[in-house]
Amino acid sequence: MTARLIDGKAFAASLRSRVAEAAARFAAGQGRPPGLAVVLVGEHPPSAAYVRSKAKATVEAGMESFEHKLAADVSQGQLMALVDELNADPTVDGILVQLPLPPHVDELAVLLRIDPDKDVDGFHPMNAGRLAIGLDALVPCTPLGCLMLLQHELGNLAGLDAIVVGRSNIVGKPMAQLLIRANCTVTVAHSRTRDLAAAVRRSDIVVAAVGRPELIRGDWLKPGATVIDVGQERVEQPDGTRKLLGDVAFDEALQVAGAITPVPGGVGPMTIACLLRNTVVAAHRRAGTADPEGL
Ligand code: NAP
Repeated sequence: MTARLIDGKAFAASLRSRVAEAAARFAAGQGRPPGLAVVLVGEHPPSAAYVRSKAKATVEAGMESFEHKLAADVSQGQLMALVDELNADPTVDGILVQLPLPPHVDELAVLLRIDPDKDVDGFHPMNAGRLAIGLDALVPCTPLGCLMLLQHELGNLAGLDAIVVGRSNIVGKPMAQLLIRANCTVTVAHSRTRDLAAAVRRSDIVVAAVGRPELIRGDWLKPGATVIDVGQERVEQPDGTRKLLGDVAFDEALQVAGAITPVPGGVGPMTIACLLRNTVVAAHRRAGTADPEGL
């Protein structure tokens, strides 16, 4: 068997164009585009690159991008004051504080300070709680993107056995909540799971969010399973080059799975597309208008 490739890049491009249409309708109705504020603290190069690509994608979707770059030694008080200012700004619909923050900053206190209605990363405990009890919430972007890919690939997920490998607050746990909401029977595995291979082998859906390159082997998979690989780690190859690898041994999995996301080109592009989606949804909810259709 050779698995179908799930083309996250193409799906993300179509989602971004639907977001752009919804942003244009919002701007026509409200007299201003949806706005996303991104806060970057310090010079962490990967974070700076993410922030640049988020800002570019925001503008391409017809939304306003507000970038705030703060020095690495910014005080907790200064950062909180900026969050307060963005909470109060009516032209800002979404606020994203790029993580990780420097060690002297209390990250949870910053996340708690963000207005939950503007929390487009979905990391505020209010949104995590709303997701857990089945209310409308702003949902973390990466797991939301994974769910969209799964529903596009499989349609109705009800009754399927799903495993989420990894239980982080930003990927694993919200992914499990989304799959429960989609009526899957969900196993959450982590570093203390006793027989991971056996748990994976029982599953129709495998979402891997571990950060251990190629941990999940092809012969662990149930034949025909749908595999979503969130992992992306740069690993040095014998020839000295660095290759981006997922958490699933891709070449092996191709022979067993029914469908699989490649790395890169699978989950990665969905994260920014879902951030834009969350921003336009937050803008509509804040304006008291119905959620845009088809997002
Ligand atoms: P994280 O916070 O480090 O969490 C990793 C999880 O994996 C933990 O729950 C950990 O278990 C579990 N784990 C570690 N070793 C394991 C093992 N041997 N067997 C089973 N479970 C194990 O990582 P994260 O932030 O969720 O990210 C995971 C991966 O996704 C990383 O490669 C990251 O780069 C990638 N990522 C990609 C995107 C994207 O846009 N594509 C977005 C976010 C993250 P414990 O809880 O027991 O420690």
